[in-house]
Amino acid sequence: MRSLLLATTNRHKIEEFRTIFSDLPWHLLSLHDIHVDMDVEETGTTFAENATLKALTYARATGMFALADDSGLEIDALGGAPGVYSARFIRPDASYDERFRVILETMQGLSAELRAARFRCVIALAEPSGSVRSVEGVIEGVIADAPRGQNGFGYDPIFLVPSLGKTTAELSSDDKNSISHRGRAAQKARELLEVWPVFPVPHQ
Ligand code: IMP
Repeated sequence: MRSLLLATTNRHKIEEFRTIFSDLPWHLLSLHDIHVDMDVEETGTTFAENATLKALTYARATGMFALADDSGLEIDALGGAPGVYSARFIRPDASYDERFRVILETMQGLSAELRAARFRCVIALAEPSGSVRSVEGVIEGVIADAPRGQNGFGYDPIFLVPSLGKTTAELSSDDKNSISHRGRAAQKARELLEVWPVFPVPHQ
């Protein structure tokens, strides 16, 4: 069985990828499993650049096939911010309550159409040789008037899915994974993993 390195230290992501890829003929290993304690600085300006950078760096460093992702929240009224800087928005050590306060104050009084936002996730799969492919998943929503819900992490309490009338922090993890940016990107990555290392030529 081939081995795939899940190049993330995020426990939630590792569990989610293990679930989605569970029946594939890949032996999934985390950075922790192979005792790799190396950080890759996210210097890209897009999710695709950062995911590719991480997957390639870990694939080359370990000689393994590697999967990495990058994700974040894009708010239209803020020109797409916080985007790739989601984890560092305001300050790297700012609390999410502080981030919610700044976002909600900036958006005060805006109608639902002007509150449009989306979570985006790009997953990159890289070979040690340098070959790399990436896939993307998106979930559209709006910024809620106030934080709601206890589940999930990050910006989930202020991300409202209008068709459900709930924030992603009010969904169970299974329900969130079935519609989320990461869940959708992971399903596409799954299709690539079924045929990898012979990647199909992308549709034009
Ligand atoms: P990364 O992909 O781990 O670099 O995540 C970047 C940041 O985007 C996270 O720290 C969160 O702030 C935000 N983010 C990404 N995905 C989600 C999500 O599913 N819910 C809430 N926030 C998210």
